[in-house]
Amino acid sequence: MAVKAAETGDLRILLVEDMPEDADRVIAQILAAGMRASFQRVEEEAQLLGALQDFQPDVVLAELTMAGFSGFRALDVVRQVQPALPFLFLTSTTGEEAAVAALQRGANDYILKHQPARLPAAVSRAVRDARTESDRVRVEGELMRAQRLESLSLLAAGLSHDLRNILQPLLIMPELLKARTDDPQLRHMADVIAECGRRGHEMAESMLSFVRGSRKPSERVPVGHLFEAVQLLLRGSLPAAVSLEVRQDDLDLTVEGNFTELQQVLLNLALNALQAMPHGGRLGLRAERTGRHEGRFWLCITVTDEGIGMDAGTLAQLFSPFFTTKPDGTGLGLTSCKRIIESCGGRIEVTSVAGQGTRFDLHLPLSDPSEADQVSHPPAVRGTGPAVLVVDGEATRLSLLGNALSSQGYLLHLASDGAAALRMLQANAMPALAILDGGAALLPAHALLAELAAQGFQGTALLMLDEGDDAELSVAEGVDVHVLRKPLDMQQVFHSVATALTT
Ligand code: ADP
Ligand code: MG
Repeated sequence: MAVKAAETGDLRILLVEDMPEDADRVIAQILAAGMRASFQRVEEEAQLLGALQDFQPDVVLAELTMAGFSGFRALDVVRQVQPALPFLFLTSTTGEEAAVAALQRGANDYILKHQPARLPAAVSRAVRDARTESDRVRVEGELMRAQRLESLSLLAAGLSHDLRNILQPLLIMPELLKARTDDPQLRHMADVIAECGRRGHEMAESMLSFVRGSRKPSERVPVGHLFEAVQLLLRGSLPAAVSLEVRQDDLDLTVEGNFTELQQVLLNLALNALQAMPHGGRLGLRAERTGRHEGRFWLCITVTDEGIGMDAGTLAQLFSPFFTTKPDGTGLGLTSCKRIIESCGGRIEVTSVAGQGTRFDLHLPLSDPSEADQVSHPPAVRGTGPAVLVVDGEATRLSLLGNALSSQGYLLHLASDGAAALRMLQANAMPALAILDGGAALLPAHALLAELAAQGFQGTALLMLDEGDDAELSVAEGVDVHVLRKPLDMQQVFHSVATALTT
């Protein structure tokens, strides 16, 4: 039977055979079947080991009985070095027993020399089976990796959710502290704590959005601020032998993005650079305009090092998740850099010379200078004593909101769910304002509002909603509904409450 060459391609066939003329016959049979192959013959163990290394065969054909070497021994040697390499016995011995023994020892097939017709087909089938098997192993590996990525996502989602809750007091308490003191130093400390809370909260958010693959709304980020923050954070981890050189010629450069995420990009790149320079060198951080294309002005942020550089193999896999050459690396740094830069409409380029150093160029569109700056939050406004109902299932936030608003002079009714709120109303006068958690599962906000309206509530409702969460705002006749975005910004809460109560 003729075997098409295309089925198995160019094969490397290793013959374990002590009789050269027998080997020649086998070679002739295989070539006569139309297979394309190259051959090597060995006749003892050391040669076999050498050929497995140097010749890299696709298949081994071994004579079962040889004068100075045994076919079974050859099989053991091959199985030890390459367990999945197809191995076929050739023999002139007839008999079921020998065949069964051969297969039991782990050979893929057993062919009688006086039935040469079966040889080419058996060889290509063994090779094909082995390839299918190795494809299966590869696909399984990829699946495992996808599953690991998935569990990592779940872990990250849970973690960032918990983190957001833990950080909530840091977002609210500093404002309360500030309201209780005129000491400028204490007020400054409160600001520092609030800022850390805000950044921590953003990190948790960005972790969550990475996991969900969604995009965060962007802000206008001055590159100068970014550089300052990175310098500040790097100061602690800069070895003495490394000098940091920062250059920004144009101080007005701003990009659209998320400050924390962009800072993360520069930190990831800088830390990679430091790790690539164990003996020191210059770490460069530069920003410059690069001109106009695609109707926009562009900026290039460059991070350079004089470290070990990369070979072509590393360069090709750089941005793959989990690719790392470091014993304790995660291989996720550059993956997230790429995601963040691309989410800002930009792109990353890398140039690297092994032994000389690496350069990462971040091309980012500049902010449109004609767009007005984002409005900053209005200052706190003090309330005037009316009753406010707060319904929130999250205990920490409920009590913090209660404290914060009563410190502003409001009369507070706090309820942890809708049913409790309704019970509370029976004992008290109707509030002027209701603040409700839009994410409540038991008696959702719109149902509670409808019930409040039915009982005669005529005031304003503030609905606390997650970023990106939209709600039907015309929920009940006569009730005016506004949205408060989570995480809550206390200045914004005070302002919304005061506005709601004066209109
Ligand atoms: P990690 O730092 O955890 O290994 P990264 O995604 O940050 O993961 O980087 C992936 C790989 O890219 C590194 O392990 C390293 O081989 C290579 N690499 C990244 N930056 C540099 C650099 N500046 N110089 C040399 N190699 C680098
Ligand atoms: Mg890294």
